[in-house]
Amino acid sequence: MKTKKIIALILAVLCAVLCFTACGTPKEEKSDGKIKVVTTIFPPYDYTRQIGKDNVDVSMLLKPGMESHNFDPTPQDIIKIQEADLFIYVGGESDAWVKDILESGDKKPQKSLAIMDVVEKVAEETVEGMTAEKEEREEDSDEIEYDEHVWTSPKNAEIIANSIMKALCEIDHKNKDDYTKAGNDYSLQLKELDKAYKEVVDNAKLHTIIFADRFPFRYLADEFGLSYFAAFPGCSAETEPSAATVSFLIDKVKEMKIPVVFTIEFSNGKIADTICEATGAKRLEMHSCHNLSSEMFESGETYISLMKKNLNNLKEALS
Ligand SMILES: [Zn+2]
Repeated sequence: MKTKKIIALILAVLCAVLCFTACGTPKEEKSDGKIKVVTTIFPPYDYTRQIGKDNVDVSMLLKPGMESHNFDPTPQDIIKIQEADLFIYVGGESDAWVKDILESGDKKPQKSLAIMDVVEKVAEETVEGMTAEKEEREEDSDEIEYDEHVWTSPKNAEIIANSIMKALCEIDHKNKDDYTKAGNDYSLQLKELDKAYKEVVDNAKLHTIIFADRFPFRYLADEFGLSYFAAFPGCSAETEPSAATVSFLIDKVKEMKIPVVFTIEFSNGKIADTICEATGAKRLEMHSCHNLSSEMFESGETYISLMKKNLNNLKEALS
């Protein structure tokens, strides 16, 4: 992580120099009159396009299918951030490089928004049975590491979307009415999503979920009172669970008669397959929405469409 930070810092300085020489020409950015929004990951990208519609030009730094936890910005990415009207990032451990970019160099985005700053956050948790992360604990042991996946709760999604709406209104006052209207419509859709989750959980037989993977759904589980067991914490870089973790999860599935074992997107599903073979449970996916594959982008998936698919799978897992 430290090396990453240094690299980001060097890049930021380099970009400031590059910009000084290359960007002497007038910026073409506002030629189409659109507000430039840059996000690191998918959820704020999607909220921005739902609210900003044709008034904004929103782009995401992660390329389709790219893993978000070890993402490093390229010099081009840094220039993009510096020239943005609005830059939206997570504000956690995995995009700690952002801080250096925002603090160094004279060129900054007009406005920046960390989605973790607008909601109530909780510390990343290691629950019983998990294989914890090795190196990380030693590094900054007294520093609390917050769970970054704040968007996985529809209520938080609504708060974040509202913050984006406000930011767009501030930056682009003349289109304020458009943003407010689209923002309110989107809020209603997120409220419906929240209600749909509540109904499923209220009518469920079980209230425990099992993830044979990382667990990026802490905020969702907390909001609906679900308990969980998982192979690794939310942002863990570990991919090999200990034998104890695997047998712990197998025992839990058997003991609680849990019908579904979850994996997350871009997972090879090996751990889940082992557990399913041993227990007869079914393997299903919950998509954490960090990033989408190119096919998913092309087919027009959204935060809400993914969360609805997640809900169908969750319903099966709780029955
Ligand atoms: Zn994550």
